[in-house]
Amino acid sequence: MGLIYGVRQLGSPEYRYVGLTTKTVTRRKSEHFKVADGGRKTAFADWLRTRDGREDAYFHSLELVMSEDLADLGAAEERWIEKLRAEGHRLLNLNDGGLGNHGYVWTDEQRAAASARHRGRKRENLPTGPDHPSWGTKRSAETRARMSEQRKGMNSGAANPNFGKFGQDHPAFGRRLSDETKARLSEQRRGERNPNFGRVMSDEDKKKRSDALKGRPMPSSRRSAHTRHHTNKNVYKETCTHCLDDRRSQANEGTTND
Ligand SMILES: [Zn+2]
Repeated sequence: MGLIYGVRQLGSPEYRYVGLTTKTVTRRKSEHFKVADGGRKTAFADWLRTRDGREDAYFHSLELVMSEDLADLGAAEERWIEKLRAEGHRLLNLNDGGLGNHGYVWTDEQRAAASARHRGRKRENLPTGPDHPSWGTKRSAETRARMSEQRKGMNSGAANPNFGKFGQDHPAFGRRLSDETKARLSEQRRGERNPNFGRVMSDEDKKKRSDALKGRPMPSSRRSAHTRHHTNKNVYKETCTHCLDDRRSQANEGTTND
């Protein structure tokens, strides 16, 4: 026979995990903590690591299943996971229960197939703040350096999901920021928060820059021509898309979202 057990934070009515064991719940709890302390990278292990002591993770039995058959135990676990998820408990279980994650090792083909199924699928947003599974996780300097190294270049060049997308094909096409957002973005880069704050070009650098720009028509873009000749001189031109844009965003003032 076996036990279906649930795990909650002590004092909280919300279940965060459902499991199945043929041993005692206490024994299973200490196994879970052993694995978590060993650094296992799962949402539940992260959650266990961020508990305030082991008593803070409250493991208790939900159902005694009187069967020798592992399939019956798996089915009971599935029922509990389905029921609690339907009731809104944010279970950290990686799958829907059954016998999926009890020591079964996937083949490379299965792994590749699952990866293909998940590609491009939007992940549900994780809770922020103290409810995030990684909340309170401390990473060593080496780990952080390794993570940084692994992520370098992930979104640059052809690896960027928006590489080569222009105009209407780009997800940001037609996006209008509210004046509030524009003011916030501007504030974030003003004064000493600007990356160029206090930087002075050497004569050598000035010469380099000047040589590089020689022969190029100025201003370098329609946007800067608009700023120089329209915005700064308070001129409005029907034929200028940026003038039209400015007028439109003024008309939308207070009704735009970002
Ligand atoms: Zn203009």
